[in-house]
Amino acid sequence: MTSGYDSNNIFAKILRSELPCHRVFETADVLAFMDIMPRAPGHTLVIPKAAARTLLDVTPTSLGALILGVQTVAAAVKTAMKADGLTIQQFNESAGGQVVFHLHFHVIPRWEGEAMRPHTAQMAPVEELVAHAARIRLALDAA
Ligand code: AMP
Repeated sequence: MTSGYDSNNIFAKILRSELPCHRVFETADVLAFMDIMPRAPGHTLVIPKAAARTLLDVTPTSLGALILGVQTVAAAVKTAMKADGLTIQQFNESAGGQVVFHLHFHVIPRWEGEAMRPHTAQMAPVEELVAHAARIRLALDAA
């Protein structure tokens, strides 16, 4: 059920361990890692392991595992980052704002009165990504 899936996209390479990531959560079906250009500190991406370009290309089974992964990671991100709330985003095709063409959900912690940074605006320092990934993994271990 994949339309126009390019197996050389960045997230496919991360799944094949050809590119590194700051991993926070993994199951047989789902991988979660830090967004390298976070819209807020702790911004995490959750992706299915199965190839799918957009939300319209994923099988029901893979989507079920993915959305459960999103909920698990969202709870850990909120706890770890002491957030007041969460924004969950998911973009489809260029017209919908998608930049990487492997289905993914954004989990973005939010604090009262604090705006999100623009999409893909600035790379975070590696030390920050490492520290936030560690905090989120601790929250997952404690859950
Ligand atoms: P979009 O496809 O519009 O949902 O956005 C793709 C997201 O992937 C952006 O938020 C990027 O900052 C993020 N991103 C791009 N390359 C990487 C990478 N190598 N590791 C982690 N996040 C990435």
